[in-house]
Amino acid sequence: MISVQEAQSIMRNNTQPLGFETVSLKNAGNRVLAQDVIATFPMPQFDNSAMDGFAVRAVDTVGAHKSSPVKLKMVGLSSAGTPSEIILKPGKCVQCMTGAAIPDGADAIVIVENTNGFSDSGTVQIFQEANIGDHIRRKGEEIEKSDALISRGTCITPSEMGTLATFGYETVSVMIKPKVAIFVTGSELIEPGNKIKIGQIYNSNLYMFAELAKKSRVEVVMREVIKDDKDSLRRLLSEALQTCDVIISSGGVSMGRFDYVREVYNKLGVQEHFWKVAQKPGKPLFFGTVDSTLIFGLPGNPVSSFICYVEYVHPVMQDLQLKKRDPKHQAILTENFPVESKKHRYLFGRSWIDSKGKLLCSPESKVGSHMLTASLESNCILESPPGKQGLKVGDEITINLLNWRNIE
Ligand code: AMP
Ligand code: MG
Repeated sequence: MISVQEAQSIMRNNTQPLGFETVSLKNAGNRVLAQDVIATFPMPQFDNSAMDGFAVRAVDTVGAHKSSPVKLKMVGLSSAGTPSEIILKPGKCVQCMTGAAIPDGADAIVIVENTNGFSDSGTVQIFQEANIGDHIRRKGEEIEKSDALISRGTCITPSEMGTLATFGYETVSVMIKPKVAIFVTGSELIEPGNKIKIGQIYNSNLYMFAELAKKSRVEVVMREVIKDDKDSLRRLLSEALQTCDVIISSGGVSMGRFDYVREVYNKLGVQEHFWKVAQKPGKPLFFGTVDSTLIFGLPGNPVSSFICYVEYVHPVMQDLQLKKRDPKHQAILTENFPVESKKHRYLFGRSWIDSKGKLLCSPESKVGSHMLTASLESNCILESPPGKQGLKVGDEITINLLNWRNIE
């Protein structure tokens, strides 16, 4: 049996990032960038107005007040998309809308609220002195041309999407999504919707895997429930080996009489890198490869499957897509944590930030690997390496935040 660290590093060493492809910006949401993104021009591209108002020479507004307005001759209009060609001379002003180019010669904007308003009359009354630069967004004040904006390996969220569009990217290079097969095995499994008989259980893992796979931004191309029967197992697994980058199965990898998964993997030529990790839950975890296809045999208990997915499969999915792995954090226990003497211990838990800004956490009280409802109230997985003593209230522990939950 190997340690969690050995298991992690074996997986890492057998994972090669997939290639990249070009997609249109519209279809790039939630994909991982395969290219660095730089500014194709300075931002703003030209000096423009931050407000609706009048472009003026600040010096012409000296002494302006509501009770003694300064009168300026209005000589034109600059609107977003239609700049004014005028070069502003002393005593003149130009109507200038938000986002519109500042006419040459102007050095400030007086907002319309500080004037007698827009009108067709040739004269505008200015009620307040302007300072040079007032309400002007300067060319390049946000970003200079060729500045680095987003690095390769970043997921395209609304911020990246908006930024890519801002700089005119029509297409973008993204990492190819892993093609994934998810299988669950067990002759006791039936699908939700069917009447359940004694001894049967509803298949939860396949539904859970499909949702977890979405969080890993991969494409599920096969999804099967397989009886504990070698032939159907062999048939579906060999099909998956032809078409998928990753195969994830649950169940059938323990010591039971009908646990055929490992045997079938081996017969199909899967190179076994390890079977069994010193951890609880998830001890019978299997990992193998055929060429570059990665095969994860997760134990059938739903909590084991869930935790093994989050701790092992998800990071590998990130590596395949060159995405930086989610960081783990240190939090302070508000309840004792039951450390195992020889096994790495994982438990669902809750973490939150207290009034002093400290990150606290507590493990779930339902600790059985069959108790999936323990995950309902959880926003993280707590973990401790093997040790002689349990961790106590006030001790630090590592937590892995479930990235689709919030910290309270
Ligand atoms: P196994 O790893 O096949 O020995 O399964 C361990 C336990 O997990 C058994 O109680 C199974 O009934 C249960 N189990 C296996 N697969 C699933 C599944 N897809 N959904 C829910 N429970 C499962
Ligand atoms: Mg089974």
